[in-house]
Amino acid sequence: MVEIQGISASPGIIWGKAFVYIEDALKIPQYDIGPAWVVNELKRLQEAIDKAVAEVKSLLEESRTKGFSQSTEILDSHLMMLCDPQFLGEVEERLRAELQNVDWIAYQVFRTYAERLAAMDDPVFRERATDIRDVGHRVLGHLVHRHKASLTDISGRVILVGRDLMPSEAVALNPAMVCGLAMEAGGRTSHTAILARSMEIPAVLGLKDLTKLVQSGDEVLVDGNQGVVIVNPDEATLRRYEKSRRLWVRREEDLHRFAALPAETADGKLVSVFGNIEVPEEVAALKLYGAEGIGLYRSEFLFLQPGRLPSEEVQVKAYAQVLEAMEGRDVTIRTLDLGGDKMIPDLSDTSEKNPLLGWRAIRFCLSERQIFKTQLRALYRASVHGRLKIMFPLITTIEEYYAALDICGEVKDELREGRIAFDGDVSVGCMIEIPAAAAASDILAKDAGFFSIGTNDLIQYALGVDRGNQRVAYLYDSFHPAVLRFVRNTIVNAHAAGIRVCMCGEMAGDPLATILLLGLGLDEFSMNGSSIPEVKKIIRSVSVPEAVGFADEVMRMASGRDICAFLKRHMEERF
Ligand code: PEP
Ligand code: MG
Repeated sequence: MVEIQGISASPGIIWGKAFVYIEDALKIPQYDIGPAWVVNELKRLQEAIDKAVAEVKSLLEESRTKGFSQSTEILDSHLMMLCDPQFLGEVEERLRAELQNVDWIAYQVFRTYAERLAAMDDPVFRERATDIRDVGHRVLGHLVHRHKASLTDISGRVILVGRDLMPSEAVALNPAMVCGLAMEAGGRTSHTAILARSMEIPAVLGLKDLTKLVQSGDEVLVDGNQGVVIVNPDEATLRRYEKSRRLWVRREEDLHRFAALPAETADGKLVSVFGNIEVPEEVAALKLYGAEGIGLYRSEFLFLQPGRLPSEEVQVKAYAQVLEAMEGRDVTIRTLDLGGDKMIPDLSDTSEKNPLLGWRAIRFCLSERQIFKTQLRALYRASVHGRLKIMFPLITTIEEYYAALDICGEVKDELREGRIAFDGDVSVGCMIEIPAAAAASDILAKDAGFFSIGTNDLIQYALGVDRGNQRVAYLYDSFHPAVLRFVRNTIVNAHAAGIRVCMCGEMAGDPLATILLLGLGLDEFSMNGSSIPEVKKIIRSVSVPEAVGFADEVMRMASGRDICAFLKRHMEERF
């Protein structure tokens, strides 16, 4: 039995058989062959292609049965590529000319195709490079006889163990199969953590050397409440954890009473408590948790699906689905926040040295204007289905905000010309997640419809700490006085300009922060569904003057660690 301490990323206690998933690059051998080997090499390639075709056909059948039209379309195109005689012809030609093993030649041909497509101006063609790489990976995997565990190999309920998950992999997890998550990388506000919480999968991240200690089939216990993972727990440990699990479930059931109650302070001030979502399917669960609106819909998850960009129609459908499901309550949709740790291989610049300081979010959208315009058209078209608010991520300068607003104006003009209906009163706001935006929030507040504080990034940039790096996770601190001053400054400036402030970063759902944020004057809290009942309970327990006095006291303190200890003590005394 081995116990490893990591970072608590999503609550809950669960144990089961491990499925170890390690995405590693294929190692393609390179060696010379004699002319007599060419026929044999071609036969090897054909066998690998046949195996790949059989796999794609079976995936295709599954996808048709489930009615997944987008993946059916993608798999169809993969099948066409696999059966393309031009590819075989090119490999044969180079094989005879270069006399090197077929694995190497096929790898080079796939690479050339992908690079040619990736260099095209048209984003639709550029995306095809992903498909080529995908198909190439499949064929080459068979050629080099590598059997890599794939997320689609999961059958039965497992604890997923690995180094890290790409957001596009995390979003494809099936909570009916993956009942727990234990990863070497990641912090509390990494996207894997956020997704695990929204899917209600207990998760522990930042577990050093985990994949050296666990093999598929080992029994693994994930305690997402304490951030602990136990490999091959003994009987006594399991009995102990069964008791803690039951207590935790009872506590959750108890809290659920608060879901349907308004977030009203003891002296009658109504505060808004909203939910965050990544995919439209999460709305139903959010409503059960008592979300009074949606403060953050991370629209980029629509774009992170493998394959091609979502069309305007696909986007309208997704946005309208969320707006309709929320029945007239506020729905804030954030425009595309790609880049940073959310890369799409053929759209993002994967060669960036510092992606988190690079071409991401609004910066990406303002240069990939057509993609941005298509999204804005879809948003405005969907706006007739409910109460839409639009916000732009990672605003650093006022010019960026004006440029984005100009494109909204263009889109609205075009819709008017085309006699396409939209809501003319959609409020447009800025996310405050760059220290510069928080410091200069008085300037932004003059023209912004509202603010939404993205503390996950704000803390990362204010403290210079990568939010997904477990080695520096000890420095990532929501209660650092600098972070609290940025939050206070943003709220004060927003209120001076008469606009409301939401917080949609993870801090908004941290029960330790609730009274402090209330005292600083935050108008809207937006969080993962499961945090809503507890935050409502805390809001209902306190009056505004008490919260203001409390916040004043906290703002006089000098260290994040002292503030956190003070908040913990206070919560223990209060409840
Ligand atoms: C944030 O940065 O706080 C935020 C809400 O955005 P994301 O977590 O998607 O970067
Ligand atoms: Mg952010």
